[in-house]
Amino acid sequence: LDDFPYSHVLVLGLAKSGTAAAKILLENNKNVRINDLKASEDDEEVLYLRGLGAEVVVGSHPLEVLDDIDLIVKNPGIPYENFILIEAMKRDIPIITEIELASKLTSADIIGITGSNGKTTTTTLIYEMIKQSNLSVQLAGNIGIVATEVARELKEDEKMVVELSSFQLMGIESFRPKVAVLLNLSEAHLDYHKTVDNYYQAKANIFLNQQQDDYLIYNAEDEHVTKLIQTAKSLKIPFSITSKQKDGAWADSKSIYFKEEKIMDLDDIVLVGSHNLENILAAVSAAKLTGANNEGIYKVLSTFTGVSHRLQFVATVNERSFYNDSKATNILATQKALSSFHQPTILLAGGLDRGNEFDDLVPYLNHVKSMVVFGETAEKLKTIGKKAGINSVIEAENVTDAVYKAYDTSLPGDVILLSPACASWDQYKTFEERGDMFVQAVHTIK
Ligand code: ADP
Repeated sequence: LDDFPYSHVLVLGLAKSGTAAAKILLENNKNVRINDLKASEDDEEVLYLRGLGAEVVVGSHPLEVLDDIDLIVKNPGIPYENFILIEAMKRDIPIITEIELASKLTSADIIGITGSNGKTTTTTLIYEMIKQSNLSVQLAGNIGIVATEVARELKEDEKMVVELSSFQLMGIESFRPKVAVLLNLSEAHLDYHKTVDNYYQAKANIFLNQQQDDYLIYNAEDEHVTKLIQTAKSLKIPFSITSKQKDGAWADSKSIYFKEEKIMDLDDIVLVGSHNLENILAAVSAAKLTGANNEGIYKVLSTFTGVSHRLQFVATVNERSFYNDSKATNILATQKALSSFHQPTILLAGGLDRGNEFDDLVPYLNHVKSMVVFGETAEKLKTIGKKAGINSVIEAENVTDAVYKAYDTSLPGDVILLSPACASWDQYKTFEERGDMFVQAVHTIK
């Protein structure tokens, strides 16, 4: 731990990242106190961390846990209105998240990705592109891999690609990614951040400490983004799916480019949807600026089928292409999925009834030749199908049955898309389980 003037640290919230942070701080001879509301005295981690010398307080947040503390490492999920944090701010105790701690454990280059949507997809693409260019690279962050654990093992010439949530970015001080990516900004997580400005400001932390020799890759078509980055000192690298960018990545109707160089043809890219093209251009920019080569980039984009359950290409069976978008649990996500295709499409939709109507889907159903509906919302979706003038609207028992019924009505060249527009809990434990059922059924078709 370089440049770390703190000796008494409170780790707030245990979970995976808290446990890792506590362990690393103990290894660096810091006095560590841990406070977690939900953990209990005989939990394995509690016993383990006590064994390493930590003081552990579980079950409540007594104000005394702040005594003598000069730094708090908090779990990103804990809101700043938590009274312990309010009191800590009154006492001027700095509050950081694991990302800040991780950045103090390495001097290797960090590539950070944030935005309201597309983080996981873009992070995965960047990581794969660098890896396929035979460079050493590790993945971490919001994608489910504890950043401190990765950072402490990182070799000097390795790179770390980190997915960053706004919650994580709120708790930084000196975190300075060599390459930052800001994908887009929409209103999200207002329950946590309270105002849009707070949320945008948290996102802006990604470039807060960047200097002229760091890169900031940004979406030139998103006006919230272009406004927010005005104060950045970084070298700004735009990307756009609609207009040529001489300083960044762009696309025309045939190919994608980085500055003046053609990278590859759109026809060779597996991912579909204009939102994914944005993610691709952001990823290409980050990969190129990190030393990835065009062969590595080509290899990834010509094979990457998408993050599971997010408009993921599953297979082409007898000239029908199947896509799993089980993550689409609301109308907006299904609209986006439908806009990604121009071919005749069979839509599989339905699930938990939250009481909303689906009229907003109608304008997106022009190329939908039939619908197979299931779950609690089956009846409502049937009505919508009729409103849109679709002749073939079929009811199925569940997703598996829907796959077979869809296939029976399909023709070569059709897209068969699971994009339910509803949560899965009426019939499945999770959207992942629902998507897995879809994929399994597709693989049984001969
Ligand atoms: P995140 O990690 O930010 O949640 P993901 O990559 O997991 O993002 O994608 C989740 C969903 O967000 C996708 O299924 C798609 O509907 C939507 N999405 C992905 N990329 C974008 C983008 N660039 N712009 C708008 N929406 C997007």
